[in-house]
Amino acid sequence: MTNQELVQRAQSVLFQNYRTQPVALVRGEGSWVFDADGKRYLDFIGGIATVSVGHANPRVRDALMEQARLLWHASNLYVTEPQIRLAEKLTAQSRTLKRAFFCNSGTEANEAMIKLARHYQVVNGRPDRIEILCFHNSFHGRTMGSLAATGQPKYQQGFGPLPQGFRFLDYGNVEQLQAAVSGQTCAVMLEPIQGEAGVMPPPRGYLAKVRELCDKHGALMLLDEVQTGMGRTGAYFAHQHERIEPDAMTLAKGIAGGVPLGALLAREDVAKVFTPGTHASTFGGNPLATAAACAVMDLLSEGLVERVQRAGERLSRGLASIGGRASGERGLGLLRALLLSEDVAPKVVAKARDLGLLVNAVGDRVVRLAPPLTVSDQEIDRAAELLKEAVANA
Ligand code: PLP
Repeated sequence: MTNQELVQRAQSVLFQNYRTQPVALVRGEGSWVFDADGKRYLDFIGGIATVSVGHANPRVRDALMEQARLLWHASNLYVTEPQIRLAEKLTAQSRTLKRAFFCNSGTEANEAMIKLARHYQVVNGRPDRIEILCFHNSFHGRTMGSLAATGQPKYQQGFGPLPQGFRFLDYGNVEQLQAAVSGQTCAVMLEPIQGEAGVMPPPRGYLAKVRELCDKHGALMLLDEVQTGMGRTGAYFAHQHERIEPDAMTLAKGIAGGVPLGALLAREDVAKVFTPGTHASTFGGNPLATAAACAVMDLLSEGLVERVQRAGERLSRGLASIGGRASGERGLGLLRALLLSEDVAPKVVAKARDLGLLVNAVGDRVVRLAPPLTVSDQEIDRAAELLKEAVANA
């Protein structure tokens, strides 16, 4: 089957709810993917920050194959070893979040975190504390609760009524936050860097301010680390750069290297309000997905997290040197954005694709890059060269 044939078949049978590019990918290896016509691309979007340790990583593949020989699925009616092993590895990386719940995606993890926060207040005798403070331009997912917490009206319009109790503030504005957090606040929910908003970090010290205000008013601090977690920014979790601890945090995307998995981590006293029957997921903690994630965690612990810091600096320098209509860059570790001075991001993405580089546009003036964390220095330099050519010719 050719690329074009597969694209046509997709168009005639699948829901047309994605802005899918006319490329049918059939194989991947490390930082590279191959389409049905045999053309190869340097993958600098990595399944949107998901293929964290490279395509077809042998360690993840071996973990999956070994687990496939043993047990694929059993549900949470029974204990399965990879799920426990993964929970131990994840919680070992956090000073305070010592309990884990597993699901299948980022939006589900956020849904669980919202329910956990509401239930925590109810169980602790404060059912009136229902307001969850969220942020403009945030993105937390597409299910109703996560969508209600997402500060982008374009995703919400036409799907109402949405769950109530979500109020939006300007991300990074300390005065607004100070005025908003009160005895009615159930939780403050935010991304340590707003990914879908164009890789927007908050001002330094902002997360610490959120922590301080939550402590002062008895609200929970909820971090969505779906995009920023699992080594992506050069720390296991992005909030660790700011030396603060949330009360709960969600993970997904890169957690299992591209195998679907989501996680909610929480403090012991918060997690305990989910008693048997309060929340569940049939596939959550599935042995195949959690075995893959254990292999990812092992790779991260073998120097990969530290390597991301150096690789991120190299990519940052490469992007900063592009010039022309590229007016700058921002980000942390290997979650980065190239900023453009004109509305040409989709054209730059298309041109880059023709040249053999996959990146993605977030809005008209931002190109996002989230390559596998295993990307080599040569691949980073090559990507910067190709992007320079794409910006010049888009
Ligand atoms: N939260 C953040 C910060 C995200 O970036 C995303 C996806 O882009 C989600 C949640 C939703 O994750 P999923 O698509 O796995 O449901």
